[in-house]
Amino acid sequence: MRLVFSIFALAAIAAISTTEAAAQTLRGSPASVERIYQQALGHDLHFYETGAGVYRAVERGTLVRLDGNENYRTHNVSYPFALPIAEVFVNRLADQYRAACGEQMVVTSAVRPRSFRLANSVSRSVHPTGMAIDLRRPTDPTCLRWLRQTLLSLERTGVIEAVEERRPPHFHVAIFPRPYLQYVQRRTDDPVLASAVPVEPMEVSDATSYQVRPGDTLWSIAQRNGTTVDAIKSANRLSNPNIQAGQTLVIPAR
Ligand SMILES: [Zn+2]
Repeated sequence: MRLVFSIFALAAIAAISTTEAAAQTLRGSPASVERIYQQALGHDLHFYETGAGVYRAVERGTLVRLDGNENYRTHNVSYPFALPIAEVFVNRLADQYRAACGEQMVVTSAVRPRSFRLANSVSRSVHPTGMAIDLRRPTDPTCLRWLRQTLLSLERTGVIEAVEERRPPHFHVAIFPRPYLQYVQRRTDDPVLASAVPVEPMEVSDATSYQVRPGDTLWSIAQRNGTTVDAIKSANRLSNPNIQAGQTLVIPAR
C-alpha cells in the first residue's frame, strides 16, 4: 500500500516539475536571449541597420517576402521579410497549425532594421537579421495549447528558441538556420529512407520554400524555380515524385 502511494506521489511530482520546466522555457531569460544572439553570430548573419538595407537584401534574394496564404497572414508588419529558412518555418508551422486548430496563424513581426527598434526590444534582438518571427498569441484555447506544445517540442529539438511575451501577447520565435534546415531535410514520409540518407546541408541563405498548388507537378515547380526534379526530391527526401496540393517543399538553390 505504501509502495503504491509512493509511486503515485513520485508521478505527481514528476508531472509538476515537467509543467514548471515547460512554462519556464517559454518564459524566456537573459540566458535565452544570449543563446539566440550567439546563434546569429555563429551563422554570420547580417544585422540590417535601415529599411533601405532590408530592401536591398530583398532584391538580392537574401531576404524573402512573407506573402501569406490560406494557412497564415501577416498583420501590421512594416517589413514582411525574413530569411528564406524562416519562411520555410512559417509555411510548415502554418500548415500544421491550420490543420490542428482550423484557423489561420498570424505573423505580427519579421525582420526589423535596427533603426526601427521598438521600445520594448532588447539591444541583443535578432529581429534585424530576419531569423526571428513574432506570432500572435491565439485566443482560442485549442490553438494556444497546440502552439505552445509545438514550439516547446521544436525548442527541445534545438532548432528554435521561443518566448511567450505579454505586451502585446505574442510568441517570439528565433529560428536557428542550419539546425532547422537539417531538421526539415531529415523529415520525410518514409522514415526508413530518412534514416538511410545522410543529411547534406545546403546553403541556408539559398534555400526557400514553396507550397504546392492544385495541378503542380515536381517538373513544373522545378522549371519555375530554375532547378531540377532530382534536386527537389533530394532536398525534401522524397522517395517518389507524387506531391499533394498544400504540401510545403524546400526549394534548393538555382
Ligand atoms: Zn520578437
